[in-house]
Amino acid sequence: MTPLIKRLHKESKVTIPLSEHQKNHIAQMKEKISNGIYRLEKNDCVCSGNSSDILIAEKDRYGFDLTTKLCQNCGLLRSDPYYEYETLNEFYKNEFEEIYRGNFDIDEYFEKRKRVSYEIYEFIKEYLYKDSSKKKIFDLGCGSGVLLVAFNENGHETYGCDLGEKYISYGISKGLNLYKGDIDVLNQFGKADVIILNHSLEHFINPRSYISRVKQMLKEDGIIYIAVPGVIGSLPMHYKNDYLRFFQNSHVYHFSLNTLNKMMELEGFKCSKGTEEIQAVYTKNLNFNPNLTKKWKDEDEAVRIKTHILKLEKQLLTEVKRKSSISYKLKQKLKRIYYALKG
Ligand SMILES: [Zn+2]
Repeated sequence: MTPLIKRLHKESKVTIPLSEHQKNHIAQMKEKISNGIYRLEKNDCVCSGNSSDILIAEKDRYGFDLTTKLCQNCGLLRSDPYYEYETLNEFYKNEFEEIYRGNFDIDEYFEKRKRVSYEIYEFIKEYLYKDSSKKKIFDLGCGSGVLLVAFNENGHETYGCDLGEKYISYGISKGLNLYKGDIDVLNQFGKADVIILNHSLEHFINPRSYISRVKQMLKEDGIIYIAVPGVIGSLPMHYKNDYLRFFQNSHVYHFSLNTLNKMMELEGFKCSKGTEEIQAVYTKNLNFNPNLTKKWKDEDEAVRIKTHILKLEKQLLTEVKRKSSISYKLKQKLKRIYYALKG
């Protein structure tokens, strides 16, 4: 069967630049998969619908064999099959950082990432000052905790947790209040006014059960801030409109704002604001009755996602064709000569 994005069949080649360090770890992981040390298993869609899927792609940005499917019942894209639980733990322990971040300077990284902290702060500021009390902020899966910096500077009470020892230790050395461990490690501090889930939800095999755990940690009038790479909106900004750059083996689900809203709704939340990129704020739906929850069905959304993927792919191919034309190349060459002469 040919995938919907024909470029993304099994033999397609990696297009992103990779360092030797990354290449070595990718090769190491591929070997573990082919030796059966790392294993994959069937991964049914979290909507629990028993619909048919559309095959979208068979490769990811790093050259891993990764099958991405579009669920025709709900519109979610997911990796299926996906890594078994044990494999996933080993992958995060051994290869994830090496492949995704490569060798880098942690000081430099921390300073650069502060910008994202200020952006998130601006995005949710209106919810922080409804009264004058200082707020309790949890960042779950916080890494170095850098996203808490802006909230810390503005006098709020901040806590972060993560499984990665290296980054936690670094954040603590920067004066942040961080704890190594699962999200339960923050229960000792009571319930939060704000919970940050920044680029973490897309990594979970069962994002719904994760959200229902997170809900227990949130005050009745609290908010959850979620950022995930949006399947519609983040492509032009961060992935050069190319799904081959977008799909990556650590991501299990790909949301649009609609599919994320729908999932959150079924877990008892309402979207207060959101963008397709995706950044969104959710509040608790205080009238939520889980027994009255309707089934997750949104076939229109599935059609919308499929249409979008096809449109983007067509645009990308037209652009590639234009850039490989002789007249385009000649123009670029003349431009370079002109600027060289101009000095
Ligand atoms: Zn589904």
